[in-house]
Amino acid sequence: MTKPSEFYFPCPRSITYCTQCANPLARIIPPDDNRVRDVCLQCGAVHYQNPRNVVGIVPVWENKILLCRRAIEPRFNTWTLPAGFMELKESTSEGALREAEEEAGIAGLELGELFTVIDVPEANQVHIYYLAKVTDPALNPGPESLEAVYFEFDNIPWDNLSFRTVSTTLEHYLADRTEGEFKIHQYTLSENV
Ligand SMILES: [Zn+2]
Repeated sequence: MTKPSEFYFPCPRSITYCTQCANPLARIIPPDDNRVRDVCLQCGAVHYQNPRNVVGIVPVWENKILLCRRAIEPRFNTWTLPAGFMELKESTSEGALREAEEEAGIAGLELGELFTVIDVPEANQVHIYYLAKVTDPALNPGPESLEAVYFEFDNIPWDNLSFRTVSTTLEHYLADRTEGEFKIHQYTLSENV
């Protein structure tokens, strides 16, 4: 199986210059800290880096799940649930709806309950998916998608999904649907699991 570190955007980025004063940065452990940070020895700024959130939805129309075929790297030409990086000043649910609009342009959508919260420490990311009910199935995919397609539950393209966060979220969705109860699933994807 492909490792998560090969699946996701590299993150955090290494920073070369201070964003405050443009001085080259040093990688040192600051006083009273216990981790190596990018530190400006000229102005004293410490450039902390923290995990990023990826937010998305599991859009369901009747007995079908909507997937988007990626028009961008990484994982160009593979199928994904609508999802993307959370923006500043928005909530997780706002970000999930925005990404759905950008990638699939679903005409009618009701956001449901929180469904999966997936730690991906290898990629320094947390992926968060909400359930979502499609109320008007018309689509208008944006430039990040080659196409958006509703798949029957037994016809999901398992061999060509984009990310393990997507495949495991879909597995939980189908299992919960069979059991007749949707629960929140929190788990960690590691390199060897
Ligand atoms: Zn500086």
